[in-house]
Amino acid sequence: MYSEVLNLMQSQPWFFITTVFLVSLAIGSFLNVVIYRIPKIMQNQWQSECRLLLADELADSSQPQQSAPFNLITPSSTCPKCNTKIKPWHNIPILGWVFLGGKCASCKAPISVRYPAIEALTALMSLVVAWQLGVSELTLLYIAVTWALVALTFIDIDHMLLPDQITLPLLWLVLMVSVFGITIEPSEALIGAAVGYLSLWSVYWLFKLVTGKEGMGYGDFKLMAVFGALLGWQALPMIILLSSVVGAVLGITLLTIQGRDKATPIPFGPYIAIAGWIAMLWGEQIQSAYMSAVFG
Ligand SMILES: [Zn+2]
Repeated sequence: MYSEVLNLMQSQPWFFITTVFLVSLAIGSFLNVVIYRIPKIMQNQWQSECRLLLADELADSSQPQQSAPFNLITPSSTCPKCNTKIKPWHNIPILGWVFLGGKCASCKAPISVRYPAIEALTALMSLVVAWQLGVSELTLLYIAVTWALVALTFIDIDHMLLPDQITLPLLWLVLMVSVFGITIEPSEALIGAAVGYLSLWSVYWLFKLVTGKEGMGYGDFKLMAVFGALLGWQALPMIILLSSVVGAVLGITLLTIQGRDKATPIPFGPYIAIAGWIAMLWGEQIQSAYMSAVFG
């Protein structure tokens, strides 16, 4: 069954590309939910933990507050303005937003263009992966990593954090996959994860000792561990270099658009995510171009 599907995909590349596109559009729609809700779920957990702790300390006998379930599936999406449930056909990726003219069907409140943009971005990036790597198990892994990177990037932009709920399962996935011979040797993956984590961890502590400031967070180390486990430690210097290039380019662009005074702290996670994604797809080409430029 599995090899039949693989054969079909390999003999019909357009079928594969179309499937990747449609599935990624739907996933992009789900990522919008992930990006919006995971931070809220985390906040709810922290609050209930704090409440429990305080109740313990105050020997408060009152019942802990029962709240309605809030997770990635329930409740179904509503308009944040008027709370009307969003109908399934309005939830169709990109098209739903276009048909609604970017407005809620009942209260006409504007719906951010970011929702269809994230759906389109997810589908396009997945297409690039499929196009670049063709039909293989590695392609499926890279597409799954791409989806996680999209979610992490936008959560980090919104909240300056990379949730463990995404980075840790992603790290375990990449480590486990190395056992099946799809990426690199398991021992290399393990070393890559450790070196990835420790590289940024040491930069963080050095920076903190010298300047007293915190330039990154622990989520950044975990994301770097993911790329170390996926590509091996050898790829890490390039990813760090690329992320500073991405950071410089985006930083200058943002400064130009928003003006010098509004320089808000920019999370580091998106730069690592973009740099790692580039290294995933074009790392070898960049490496050999660099080598031939330096050593002729
Ligand atoms: Zn509404």
